[in-house]
Amino acid sequence: MSNFVLPVAKLIEEFSKLPGIGKKTAQRLAFYILNSKEDDAIHLAEAIIEAKKKTRYCSICSNITDVDPCNICTSPKRDKKVICVVEDPRDIVAMERTREYNGLYHVLHGAISPMEGVGPEDIKIKELLTRLQKEDIDEIIMATNPNIEGEATSMYISKIVKPLEVKVTRIAHGVPVGGDLEYADEVTLAKALEGRREL
Ligand SMILES: [Zn+2]
Repeated sequence: MSNFVLPVAKLIEEFSKLPGIGKKTAQRLAFYILNSKEDDAIHLAEAIIEAKKKTRYCSICSNITDVDPCNICTSPKRDKKVICVVEDPRDIVAMERTREYNGLYHVLHGAISPMEGVGPEDIKIKELLTRLQKEDIDEIIMATNPNIEGEATSMYISKIVKPLEVKVTRIAHGVPVGGDLEYADEVTLAKALEGRREL
């Protein structure tokens, strides 16, 4: 039973759905909002709505974008012969920070994980294959996370891409094993990119 009045209980419930937010933190955030200026609360609510309404997945690379196709896909300055395959849009931000990569991207939105019931058809592999068939691509760089799921995904993709005669490389393990790409510092990530090997 909740001891909070309904609107407050509802706010706490919504906060507690967020990743890494337990009941206690949800309550603290809810009371922070209740005690803040009305304008601040409205700005927060509007920012959430606007971010959700004005963004979508790029129809080419599945990155989160406010224009479709996204700025990277349409940029004349990018090398259109190379695609870097990542699990999450945040990984693109990490790769861009290195300033070492100038090709295109493809976001899988996850990794193959039999343990969690995620199969190849649950992530954007089909979309990647369509691109490889339509576009003139020389190399795809597998930059999935260096953990079991990331490795399995990388191996799976390299196997199904082989018949298309596209070179598949894997970033080197300068990235700590078990780590997340997005937390790797730019020097480590740049080195990992430089030391990629063919699969
Ligand atoms: Zn795109």
